[in-house]
Amino acid sequence: MEHFGICAACGQGAKRLRACASERHFLILCDECDAAWFTLEDEAPTYLKQPDLPCPACGASLVQPPSRWATLDEIRQLGWGDDLVSKSE
Ligand SMILES: [Zn+2]
Ligand SMILES: [Zn+2]
Repeated sequence: MEHFGICAACGQGAKRLRACASERHFLILCDECDAAWFTLEDEAPTYLKQPDLPCPACGASLVQPPSRWATLDEIRQLGWGDDLVSKSE
């Protein structure tokens, strides 16, 4: 599993890249507490509206299908591949 480190908000979940249901946008999302970040530089998390977690850019859900965790290729395309702390193929 690819992730960007442990979530500072809950201390348990992993920060992972999530594609919204329109599959046009990516957001960093904690897989435990749903804290979100727009960039890896952001320290303070954003909390999207429960329960659907609408994408701030288009309003498509970040939890309903076809939203999904981003692939390693997509993470690399965004230039964040070097920030991953755990990798698997
Ligand atoms: Zn968290
Ligand atoms: Zn979106």
